[in-house]
Amino acid sequence: MRVWLVRCEEFARPVIILARRRPTLASLKVVFAVSYDQVRRFHVFGHAMNVDDIEELFERLDRSKFRQRFRLGKRERDYLTAKGLEVIMSHGADFVVQRLAPAFPENDGKQTPMRNHPVFVAQHATATCCRGCLEKWHGIPKGRALSPKEQEHVLRVIERWIRGQTER
Ligand SMILES: [Zn+2]
Repeated sequence: MRVWLVRCEEFARPVIILARRRPTLASLKVVFAVSYDQVRRFHVFGHAMNVDDIEELFERLDRSKFRQRFRLGKRERDYLTAKGLEVIMSHGADFVVQRLAPAFPENDGKQTPMRNHPVFVAQHATATCCRGCLEKWHGIPKGRALSPKEQEHVLRVIERWIRGQTER
């Protein structure tokens, strides 16, 4: 499944569609059902994320009961305070390179602990914990190495979530 952002002239906000293939007018009519039948012109964005897409992503994450359960605990907060965000994110960059970026990461699906490092918690909260979640939520396909840009995207998402936690 990939994440497709579809912008129709009829609607101000883009619509997120999870589909294996690039949506067509015919498939959009099915997705939108009868009331949206007037959709004629639309634009499908690829599944590479940009800044706007990160806004969309966080809106979707906000609607997920499972993702919303994750919070920084006292231990992770203390660690973050002691080390500072910059050091924490440098650990994050290492985790991404070692545990997420390879085409076939070791123990994929179970490679990210649930606690003990702010980045681990952030990864579960933002669906950047494994290649399955990256594919489903971020539209980054499994079975190939992450590009530098995709690694950057993952780190940006993680950092934003951690910053959000410290503002609470
Ligand atoms: Zn996962």
